[in-house]
Amino acid sequence: MSSSPAVLMRLMASAFSVAEKAGDVVRSVLKAGDLDVVAKTGANDLQTKADRLAQQSICASLARKFPRITIIGEEDLPSQEVEEELIESRHSEEVLAQPCPPEYSSAREEELVVWVDPLDGTKEYTEGLLDHVTVLIGVAYEGRAIGGVINQPFYNYEMGPGAVLGRTIWGVLGLGAFGFDLREVPAGQHIVTTTRSHSNKLVTDCVDAMRPHKVIRVGGAGNKIIQLIEGKASAYVFASPGCKKWDTCAPEAILHAVGGKLADVHGNSYTYHRDVQHMNAAGVLATLRDFDYYASRVPASVKLALLTA
Ligand code: AMP
Ligand code: MG
Ligand code: MG
Repeated sequence: MSSSPAVLMRLMASAFSVAEKAGDVVRSVLKAGDLDVVAKTGANDLQTKADRLAQQSICASLARKFPRITIIGEEDLPSQEVEEELIESRHSEEVLAQPCPPEYSSAREEELVVWVDPLDGTKEYTEGLLDHVTVLIGVAYEGRAIGGVINQPFYNYEMGPGAVLGRTIWGVLGLGAFGFDLREVPAGQHIVTTTRSHSNKLVTDCVDAMRPHKVIRVGGAGNKIIQLIEGKASAYVFASPGCKKWDTCAPEAILHAVGGKLADVHGNSYTYHRDVQHMNAAGVLATLRDFDYYASRVPASVKLALLTA
């Protein structure tokens, strides 16, 4: 038996606790009431005080424990000292107790890349659609998304004051995913989940071509992957640029850990090397099962419009 846990599992155990801390930050900023919203590229691309503080918390906490890991966060922040109260130094013993899949047991710190979306679904957060919000920490190795943590800070928020708020879902390729009950949409039902705040003609053309029995429009890439693994939707369809590597790394790892697939609208996988283009320029198509059915229905016109160089 090897004596000390693999770097990957130590990172996952820390990322679990760090994502929970970021979830606390996201809740506290809302409770305090001053979101201090900044428009980035436009009115549908927002940043709040919660995005900023959660990213500082996640990146500084992980960098302190894993100084040689590359960490890429969504928000462009000035480099500054992070307040000590934002640092999370704990880790989850439950995660650490899990065995590292042998293919990753020799991965070194400097070979891992962490993609951080400190608050996915910011637009919805500002509109009070709180269950759409997630904190995403994804881990890539050799360009593949292999580990993911999704914290959902407001899970249960409609259950009343007695309910425990928040949950954390995590997974590693080759090990599995935890923190939820895996469910599938009944066979033959095509339920498509897609964007509510970044739609356009390409997106709706592609959704319509799936011949859906039902379309769900919600915010957040993390939220939509949760819908796939909990049997609420059978496909996540987003035929547009806009979604970035920090939106898909953690969700992809968790979905793949339970046998699903996330790719672009051509069916090609994204890669997550440190120097990769941030934009998922050819859109997102993700399913728990039957990827080929949905991929085969993407219209040629949509594929042509999302051709990448
Ligand atoms: P949505 O499904 O619209 O919530 O998008 C999923 C993720 O992709 C969120 O983090 C969005 O902010 C991001 N995203 C998608 N489209 C755009 C866009 N046109 N501009 C900025 N961010 C986008
Ligand atoms: Mg996001
Ligand atoms: Mg974000």
